[in-house]
Amino acid sequence: MTAIPFDNSYVRLPDRFFARRAPTPVAAPRLSRLNRALATNLGMDPDWLVGPAGVGMLAGNSVPEGADPIATAYAGHQFGNFVPQLGDGRAVLLGEVVDRDGQRRDIQLKGAGPTPFSRRGDGRAALGPVLREYLVSEAMAALGIPTTRALAAVATGELVVRETRLPGAVLARVAASHIRVGTFQYFAARNDAEAVRMLAEHALARHYPEVSSAEHPYRALLDGVVARQAELVAAWLLVGFVHGVMNTDNMSVAGETIDYGPCAFLDAYDPRTSFSSIDAHGRYAYGQQPGIALWNLTRLAETLLLLLAEDEAAAIDVAETALAGFSPRFEAAYRGGLARKLGLPADRYGAAALADDLLARMAGNQADFTLTFRRLCDAAERPEADAGVRDLFVDPTAYDAWAVRWRELLAEGERNPAATAAAMRAVNPAFIPRNHHVEAMIAAAVERDDFGPFEELLAVLARPYDDQPAHARYAEAPEGGGAGYRTFC
Ligand code: AMP
Ligand code: MG
Ligand code: MG
Repeated sequence: MTAIPFDNSYVRLPDRFFARRAPTPVAAPRLSRLNRALATNLGMDPDWLVGPAGVGMLAGNSVPEGADPIATAYAGHQFGNFVPQLGDGRAVLLGEVVDRDGQRRDIQLKGAGPTPFSRRGDGRAALGPVLREYLVSEAMAALGIPTTRALAAVATGELVVRETRLPGAVLARVAASHIRVGTFQYFAARNDAEAVRMLAEHALARHYPEVSSAEHPYRALLDGVVARQAELVAAWLLVGFVHGVMNTDNMSVAGETIDYGPCAFLDAYDPRTSFSSIDAHGRYAYGQQPGIALWNLTRLAETLLLLLAEDEAAAIDVAETALAGFSPRFEAAYRGGLARKLGLPADRYGAAALADDLLARMAGNQADFTLTFRRLCDAAERPEADAGVRDLFVDPTAYDAWAVRWRELLAEGERNPAATAAAMRAVNPAFIPRNHHVEAMIAAAVERDDFGPFEELLAVLARPYDDQPAHARYAEAPEGGGAGYRTFC
């Protein structure tokens, strides 16, 4: 039986796009989690995947029929510094499948052993970061935000050496593709114009088929990536997500959130928040993300210059026009989203100023981002519920003054309070992956081999917009507002 209906396209690109490399087997694979619904959507049999042959395949101990495993080549700007060769140092792309919705998707094993791109790394991943990526990527999907998905996590039965020895794991990850801004940079840095063109053709056919026959398809590709990234970053901001390591090699041309490392969600709202221990200067802080996305897109545009027009001056013109599309697209998505979070139509006059004023008051009062918006849903329905919101502010009167103007704007609309509250609850999650719960979940799994918290948190986060009274503790803010929280992966 063919376990996975592979249909590989990236391996048909020339050899210099990748290195053929099978995963390295591990000592004692044990399945930590299978995403059965995703497996089914990919045309795989979940019951086979949980058996010894399936788990062995998910661990990289056997290469399934039809797979053509490769490590892909890419470059990237890391914290602003260009590295001409990065590549999949610890990931192997098994191949692609066309899912039940007709979407082509990569199946990649992350932590599958060394590749020619590993440099000094061991090619492995630790269980903690694998469970973090599994949980947070699935939470993002449930929030409705474009993201890579988690198919499975398999403990390897081996230790990886980090600051200490940690249990190892492999994450089976699913993505629209793993083509990064850094993939384009890899070839542009080598003046390999033919490869840039082939990669652009591949990305167009795969991710932007609607414009691949446009008069200027490469311009349309750039416009498309700009638009998707503008909307993606707006979606991140609207749920308080901080990616943490927005290097150009961690930016997907398909517009998905990719490479969950030191990511985390805001507790108290402060746009200067950055959680990552390696981001000392806050380059990738919450509020920096739109600007960094545009910076990364500018690096992408540079790689495409030869394709954009006949002469350089004209190409730069085209690139600048495409990049100028970022801000309006971002603003529309972000502004519209904020208005909806407040129960107002995107075009309601005064909504933008009202939202800015609320955010400024939240920042000045250490108000929890997620709880403020979720509790506003109740306040839209019943003014008595104001008490729950104002309690989140160090100085509750900062909320009172704002709420007066909010109610004036709400009153201008046609919707009744219950309908407004329902619409707000559909965009203001009750549940996000709270850092303190993610840490507790990782500690339970890694230190005590207890996956109960992981399973429970995953189930709660699968329904982020539903009140789940039995799980209310997962909605609560941490003691002290989570100040000083640090991520290390
Ligand atoms: P990341 O910080 O995860 O985006 O990875 C940046 C680069 O480092 C990529 O080329 C990765 O493949 C590589 N890398 C990260 N961790 C390891 C590891 N344990 N072994 C080999 N390469 C790694
Ligand atoms: Mg090769
Ligand atoms: Mg990466």
